[in-house]
Amino acid sequence: MDFSSGRLRQKQARLAGDRRELYPHSLQFYLEPPTENISLVEFESFAIDRLRLLKVVENLGVSHVRTSDTYKTKLGAELRKLKFPYKALAEDDYEARRKDHISHFILRLAYCQSEDLRRWFLQQEMDLLRYRFNELTEGLRQKFLEHVNLSFEAVSEDLKNELANELYTSTPGLTMTKVKEQMFYKVGLADAVDLFRARRVFIKDGFAYVPLKEIDVIVSNNFRAKLSKALALTARALPSIQSDERLQPLLNHLSHSYVGPDYSVQKNTGKISLEQIDALSVKSFPLCMRQLHKALRDNHHLRHGGRMQYGLFLKGIGLTLEQALEFWKKEFIRGKVDADKFDKGYAYSIRHSYGKEGKRTDYTPYSCMKIIMSNPPSQGDYHGCPFRHSDPDLLKQKLQSYKIPLSGITQILELVKGMHYQLACQKYFELTHDVDDIGFSLNHPNQYFTESQKLLSGGRELKKELNNSGNSQQKNNNQESMNSNSTPTSSSTTTDAELEGLEAYFTED
Ligand code: SF4
Repeated sequence: MDFSSGRLRQKQARLAGDRRELYPHSLQFYLEPPTENISLVEFESFAIDRLRLLKVVENLGVSHVRTSDTYKTKLGAELRKLKFPYKALAEDDYEARRKDHISHFILRLAYCQSEDLRRWFLQQEMDLLRYRFNELTEGLRQKFLEHVNLSFEAVSEDLKNELANELYTSTPGLTMTKVKEQMFYKVGLADAVDLFRARRVFIKDGFAYVPLKEIDVIVSNNFRAKLSKALALTARALPSIQSDERLQPLLNHLSHSYVGPDYSVQKNTGKISLEQIDALSVKSFPLCMRQLHKALRDNHHLRHGGRMQYGLFLKGIGLTLEQALEFWKKEFIRGKVDADKFDKGYAYSIRHSYGKEGKRTDYTPYSCMKIIMSNPPSQGDYHGCPFRHSDPDLLKQKLQSYKIPLSGITQILELVKGMHYQLACQKYFELTHDVDDIGFSLNHPNQYFTESQKLLSGGRELKKELNNSGNSQQKNNNQESMNSNSTPTSSSTTTDAELEGLEAYFTED
């Protein structure tokens, strides 16, 4: 039983065969799917790690300029931590390259299922590739370009000197000295459309003269075209994958997944009174739950999508079964439902959600990803994520009515436009709690509530002060807390399959 890590690695290499030749570069366009056998455990852990990485790519892309040192340092650290290829491993990193390859294809399967998922995946993968390409040394970049058939003709020194003035005036951001230092490449117009449209390159005889620093745009556009096509093809092949009963729940879970703590375990059970809920909904509920609470109070009713989303959230913040029964009954009988009907129908479903009926499963509150990605609201529904599902004008009105300053509303709407719904929600948190830096990565409505309560009860007061004074040490700690919040938990894999059973009990309007 003495398996040293070296021997274990050798054994794995033997099992996998010698596959090093599959990865001649640390970077790839993921053109060939993996063909080796892998265990379901490795399948899931690779996929979760890549999902974590792509979430970080998304967060950093919105909070920092992509060329800034902070962006590069933070993304580099995450790649290193999750053991994906990064600069220092660029020459010999078989395990990291293998993980990169396999995990990309798993998420491709999970994220080809809808237009929204495809768009999100494509954007994060493109940003990741661009970052990694720019981190390569010039020699490795050149090798990679040749490998993916993007080797462009370098402009000779003589020609460059001859065109120096034109290159200088047509290439923004370059001084004459930089023009002389930079390598320029002759690129066909079809490959340089974006640069050409943005007037960032000199054009002559059907070629764009592209400086090395802009080659990443061409590489990522080329990658986007290939990946976009591949995602569409994968989506077409989905029915055959969906018939695999081992894979389908995993893939569904991944596409609805978030990487964060499990809120099915209620630490606060019984600590909240029903009288507090109105005030809490204003102070500490995320917008989705505030909207549901208001609709319930106004209409004395919620349709089943709303009851599911809001009921499980309330359970997650600590309502006991008895409190939940009282809460829903009091409100419903103020509307069209009489007490008898409530006891016979709705009460059963509430007990079911607390694991007291049917399969006796203790159901987990919905994560942001699940709310954003599945079961969009229709007319008369109040569930969903307002940042994702509301018309921007209505969202603006709602935020105005909640006294969010106009500049904040503009920032939120910008994030929504870029489809960064959770980041828009983070901004809403910052504005409603008067903090400069939320200090965590939002993945779950119950996380929003917990963090809000911590902050309001003084638990994060110190952090706020330190943030305001720009204390970098504390900011590092915030980052750590964000990372620890992002640790995946195996128990979060329970949700989807279990909820199918529960949804059947919530069909009554
Ligand atoms: Fe709710 Fe999450 Fe949307 Fe915020 S981002 S409103 S917590 S679903």
